[in-house]
Amino acid sequence: MTEHVRNNWTNREVAEIYESPILELIYRAATVHRAYHDPSEVQVCTLLSIKTGGCPEDCSYCPQAARYHTDIKVHRLLDVEEVLQKAGDALQAGSTRFCMGAAWREVRDNSDFDKVIEMVKGVNAMGMEVCCTLGMLTHEQAVRLKEAGLYAYNHNIDTGKEFYGEIISTRTYEDRLDTLENVREAEISVCSGGIIGMGEKKMDRISMLVTLANLPVHPESVPVNALVPVEGTPLEDQPKVPVWDMIRMIATARIIMPASMVRLSAGRVRMTAEEQALCFLAGANSVFAGDKLLTTPNPGLMADQELFQVLQLKPRPSRKAENARVTPDF
Ligand code: SF4
Repeated sequence: MTEHVRNNWTNREVAEIYESPILELIYRAATVHRAYHDPSEVQVCTLLSIKTGGCPEDCSYCPQAARYHTDIKVHRLLDVEEVLQKAGDALQAGSTRFCMGAAWREVRDNSDFDKVIEMVKGVNAMGMEVCCTLGMLTHEQAVRLKEAGLYAYNHNIDTGKEFYGEIISTRTYEDRLDTLENVREAEISVCSGGIIGMGEKKMDRISMLVTLANLPVHPESVPVNALVPVEGTPLEDQPKVPVWDMIRMIATARIIMPASMVRLSAGRVRMTAEEQALCFLAGANSVFAGDKLLTTPNPGLMADQELFQVLQLKPRPSRKAENARVTPDF
């Protein structure tokens, strides 16, 4: 069955897909995956926290919120040279996308933003796809980032709009959608997804997927995260997300947003190789490399190299590879 790219999904249609028998669901998603992507390729991205902690927001899952008492190492914005060094290391290790995250509520037009612009220019010059996640963004700021060479901007919607207020009170769902619109209008690729395992119901997950799939243009990248509970945050006692739930999310995202990259993101460290293989079969075609995902643990480079070898997967070249020097060697 070939799925078409559509932006008019209903909750009911998506619920039917999500709830279909799991092996049927995986088979359908794998079929769609093959129609739109090379299933032997997985994009390897590196995410670096360029400014950690001290965030004024209250996202219940996040150890970087200043109001929660967690043991993360808070630091100011890193220097441009240090970030470029780490980007070079990531490139050498096989990453073709480099994402820089700052724990800000929103971007401010100050010297820190000027530094981020320099970082974007530097990473772009290496031929990697450059991504940032910096909080809310105005149209003018998005244009400035685009002009510096930004390829993608991550801004997750986190969960369904009905459940959203249980998780965050310091910014609205509309604020998030407005930022996505500003990014899209600046012709930057949108990366947007969410987190499961925060106490939401099945319909909240479906609502989130429907919101993403019904954006005017599907996000180029859709991260699916399983909560990694962190001591000191309000969600510290949430139980582990069953792997079948992750597979259902990934498969459903793959079917309703067939051309997007579906990113198996946080929570991978708690999965076996076999469980990750099922996620790839269900349509995941992107992972984060490195032993940290901002502040939470992630499988290390060696574990990923072994996984790629066993599953005979290869890193997807940068979309900019045609006009750049990037040849991934993972
Ligand atoms: S998720 Fe982002 S905005 Fe929310 S508290 Fe953490 S750093 Fe701040």
